[in-house]
Amino acid sequence: MAQYEYDLFVIGAGSAGVRAARLAAMSGAKVAVAEEHRVGGTCVIRGCVPKKFMVYAAEFAHHFKTAKDYGWTIEGASFDWPTFLAEKDKEIARLSGVYVRNLQNAGAELAHGKARIVDAHTVEVTGQGTHTADKILIATGGRPWMPADLPGIEHVISSNEAFHLPQLPKRIVIAGGGYIAVEFAGIFNGLGVETTLIHRGPNLLRGFDDDVRSHVAEELEKRGITVVLGAQHTAIEKTSGGLLNRFSDGHERESDVVMFAVGREPYVEGLGLENAGVKLTDKGAVAVDDYSRTNVENIWAVGDVTDRINLTPVAIREGQAFAQTVFYDKPTKFDHELVASAVFSQPPIGSVGLAEADARKQYGKVDIYLARLKPMKYAFGGDERSLLKLVVDCATERVLGCHVVGPDAPEMIQMAAIAIKMGVTKTQWDATCAVHPTLAEELVTMREKYVPMGLGQVA
Ligand code: FAD
Repeated sequence: MAQYEYDLFVIGAGSAGVRAARLAAMSGAKVAVAEEHRVGGTCVIRGCVPKKFMVYAAEFAHHFKTAKDYGWTIEGASFDWPTFLAEKDKEIARLSGVYVRNLQNAGAELAHGKARIVDAHTVEVTGQGTHTADKILIATGGRPWMPADLPGIEHVISSNEAFHLPQLPKRIVIAGGGYIAVEFAGIFNGLGVETTLIHRGPNLLRGFDDDVRSHVAEELEKRGITVVLGAQHTAIEKTSGGLLNRFSDGHERESDVVMFAVGREPYVEGLGLENAGVKLTDKGAVAVDDYSRTNVENIWAVGDVTDRINLTPVAIREGQAFAQTVFYDKPTKFDHELVASAVFSQPPIGSVGLAEADARKQYGKVDIYLARLKPMKYAFGGDERSLLKLVVDCATERVLGCHVVGPDAPEMIQMAAIAIKMGVTKTQWDATCAVHPTLAEELVTMREKYVPMGLGQVA
C-alpha cells in the first residue's frame, strides 16, 4: 500500500497550479488540487481575462470618436453596465468550467475549500478533512495589498470588487501607479466615468522605460484622465454626496468609488507554512530555488506566491517546469530573462527587455532608436501619438530592449520578443523588410540614432 494518499497535492487552482496538476496527473501520478474560490484563479476570475473584456468595452468610446472623423454618424450610442457584466460573467463561468474539465480529464481530483498545511506531508482542506501526499505544490497566488492604517480604508475597493460593481460610478479615484491602476483608469474613463489617477511617485509604471512612462502619462491625460503625481491619500471620508478623498498635496476630490491598486502581496495567510517550516523571503514570498523547490525537500512553490515575475504565462511555465522536473524526470528551469509584457492602457504598451536606464547601468554605452508619430488611423483627427523605441548595446549591436506604445503594441511585442530572445542584432533587425502600411514597420526602419535634446550633438 502506498505510504501517502496522493503523489502530489496542489494548493491553488490558478494558472500555475492547474498547469502543474494537469501535467503531473497525465504522467500517471495521483494528484489532488484544492481551491478555496473558483477554478481558474486570478487570471480567469478576477484578472487578465475579465480585465481585457473591460478594456474592449471601454475602447468603443474612442472608436466611436474616430469613426466620426471617417464620416460615420453615431447616434444614440450608450453603454449598459449590467448587460456587459452578465456577458462577462457568462464567459468567465465557461472558462472556469473548461479548467475544471481539463483537470478532471487528466485524472486530477478537485477539493473545494481552503487548504492548510498541517505538516510536510499532510494538508487539511476546510470541510473535507485531511489528506496526505508525497509532494506538495504551493500555488496560492497573490492578493491586493491595502494600507490598513489609512483612515477610511474601509470605503475602498480593490481590483477584485471592480469587476462586480453593482452600478457604474459617475466619478472614481484610483490610487496606484502600476499596470493595474493604469489599466483600470483607462477602463473607467472609456466607460464615461470621470476618472482621477493618483500616484505617490514622480511617474507612472515604475520599471518600464522612462520615455514610455512619460508618453503614457501624457496620452492618458489627452484621453481625459486626471493624473495626479507625487501625492497620495491621507484619508477617505464618507459624505452625503459620496466619498471625499483627501490628498497629501492638500487637494480634495469627491468621488463615488475609490479603488486602490497600490500593490499585491503573496497570499500565504492561513496556509500553515510554519507547520512544515517553509521559509519566506524578506518580502513575504515563498522562497524557492531555480527549480521552484522550497527549503523543505518535498514542497515546491510556483506562480505569484513566489513573487518572481507576476504574470500568467510565467506562472504557467513555472508550473510546467515543476511538473517536467518532478514527474517526467526532465529537470527544467524556467528562464525568467526577456519575458515580454503588455499594459492594456489606452493606448496600450508592449515591452520586452531592458529599459534605457537599466541598459546604461548594465552595458555602459547603448544606442537609442526612437520614433514618435501619429498613427495612420488618426490622420483624419485626434492627437494621439505612438512611441517606438529600441535599446541597442553599442559593443555587440544586440537589441537589448524594445518598447512600443500605440495601437496593437501588445500584439507586436510578442513577435519582437522572439527575435530579441534569440539575440538579434540591430543589423539583422534592419535587414527584415517592413510590412506596409503598419505601425510596426517603424520598428525596422529606424536608422538614425536618437540623442535626446540637451544630451549632445543632435538638437
Ligand atoms: P492565482 O491565479 O492567483 O491562483 C491562485 C489560486 O489559489 C486562487 O484561485 C486562490 O483562490 C487559490 N488559493 C489561495 N490560497 C488557497 C488555499 N489556502 N487553499 C485553496 N486555494 C487557495 N497577468 C498577465 O500575464 N496579463 C495580464 O493582463 C494580467 N492582468 C491582471 C489584472 C489584474 C487585475 C490582476 C489582479 C492580475 C493580472 N495579471 C495579469 C496577473 C495574473 O493574474 C497572475 O500573475 C496569475 O494569475 C498568477 O497565477 P497563480 O497561479 O500564481 O495564482
